Amino acid sequence: MMDLTRTDMPPRTADEALARLQAGNLRFVNGEARFPTVQKAVLAELSRGQQPYATILGCSDSRVPPELVFDAGFGELFVIRVAGNVLGPAVLGTLQYSVRHLQTPLFVVLGHEGCGAVKAAIASRFDGSRHAGKIEMLLEQIDPALDGLDPQAPPDELLSAGVEANVRRVVRDLLATTEAQARADEGAIKLVGAVYELDSGRVRFLPDAAADGTRR
Ligand SMILES: [Zn+2]
Repeated sequence: MMDLTRTDMPPRTADEALARLQAGNLRFVNGEARFPTVQKAVLAELSRGQQPYATILGCSDSRVPPELVFDAGFGELFVIRVAGNVLGPAVLGTLQYSVRHLQTPLFVVLGHEGCGAVKAAIASRFDGSRHAGKIEMLLEQIDPALDGLDPQAPPDELLSAGVEANVRRVVRDLLATTEAQARADEGAIKLVGAVYELDSGRVRFLPDAAADGTRR
């Protein structure tokens, strides 16, 4: 893998962006994070505009702040956070803005172990638990991802499988949008799924939950 940690050159391609995220997460895990610190000169430069190299759709969970997890600075990541990292009109609109106007080459759907939203969706599906109206709507967004899960599995395994399934489904749904499909087919963008591990701080990228120009 390319070592991009020693240079300030912004990543230009999806693969470079992915390598940058992976290197940042490694620094974070190893206690060698460089951020959050920001020079006044950087703020001044950024006040003129942004050119983030990756768009992250993550969960609102307080334990998974993308900039810290990837040891990324101001202006590097375009971040959307919503419980359960689900899609919805506002999220899709934000993603479309990112595709059209920011042109980040890399899109990451970042789920995480122990996700409360996925846990609630599992309880809703398999135990029939119910929630307040808007929460129920959120859980319905996750529910279709839970097809094929084994409700008899131990709770930890079930949740883990649910988290991963939810990430995969969101990646699939995103790719199903014609705009993403076209941009991925022409190799302009790459979509990747990933799961953050709460206890280790590691981000596990899901190689088979990815789509780019090399896809069949
Ligand atoms: Zn969560």
